[in-house]
Amino acid sequence: MLAQRAENGQQGRGVGERERQAECGAELDEFYMGLALDEARAAAEEGEVPIGAVVVCDGEVVARAHNRREGDADPAAHAEFLAMEEAAGALGRWRLTGCAVYVTLEPCLMCAGLMVNARIDRCVYGAPDPKGGALGTLYDVSHDARLNHEFAVVSGVRAEESAELLRRFFKRRRKGADRQAQAKPESS
Ligand SMILES: [Zn+2]
Repeated sequence: MLAQRAENGQQGRGVGERERQAECGAELDEFYMGLALDEARAAAEEGEVPIGAVVVCDGEVVARAHNRREGDADPAAHAEFLAMEEAAGALGRWRLTGCAVYVTLEPCLMCAGLMVNARIDRCVYGAPDPKGGALGTLYDVSHDARLNHEFAVVSGVRAEESAELLRRFFKRRRKGADRQAQAKPESS
């Protein structure tokens, strides 16, 4: 009842104001996603799959990270996983209540699982991942009543830029592999 009244109260402020707030929020989401995209580009420069993430808490960027799976030889070194660990270190608490995680690609099961465990408020992601996405595509870990935490998800923010980075990276890598194959002496 209370929730409903609160909702009605918000509606009472007029659609115009709510729309303006939503617009402002969308602009901020695009801005923070830009920082995550910068991280993704840094990953590509290191020969890593270009995925980047930032964690924002109370309007402040508290962590930024990119995929380091190859360099660290670590299957858990996904951008958003590292960013959440860094955020917890920076804030000095494991509960990331009040935090939003921005990541260029839809999180996998492991990272979405950490989002549940870290009790984040919100995840904003860019491109969907049909092969492993766990926030709406293959699974939806964000709204599963069997788990002890639910969080808001916004998808598709600057998705095309994120997808383009990935496409370019894999295309270059395939070209490199082809050249290597051609350079090898033919076996007799
Ligand atoms: Zn992941």
